[in-house]
Amino acid sequence: MHELYQEEHANNQPKQVKLKYYRDVFNTEFNLSFHKPKKDVCNVCFSYNNSSEQEQLEKQDEYDNHHSRKTRVRQLKAEYKALAKDDKSIRAVTFDLA
Ligand SMILES: [Zn+2]
Repeated sequence: MHELYQEEHANNQPKQVKLKYYRDVFNTEFNLSFHKPKKDVCNVCFSYNNSSEQEQLEKQDEYDNHHSRKTRVRQLKAEYKALAKDDKSIRAVTFDLA
């Protein structure tokens, strides 16, 4: 954002400010902040959650199937984690392929 600010005011020298000053003003003079999502949302869920009610109705079967698979995979993950915890010859590993 500071770089964009500098570009915007490139020909307006009095408005040029250093990053530290820009950050201080941004953090103290405005009621703004950045939110870091707690976790990623997959494309299916993101699309469904950001659809209109009509679009959600059209996507309901796909979403329900997706949600069922998600629940089943979480169960499997918990089962394999428990197996790996009890048997040190077993490793439980997950990958994010998205
Ligand atoms: Zn999802």
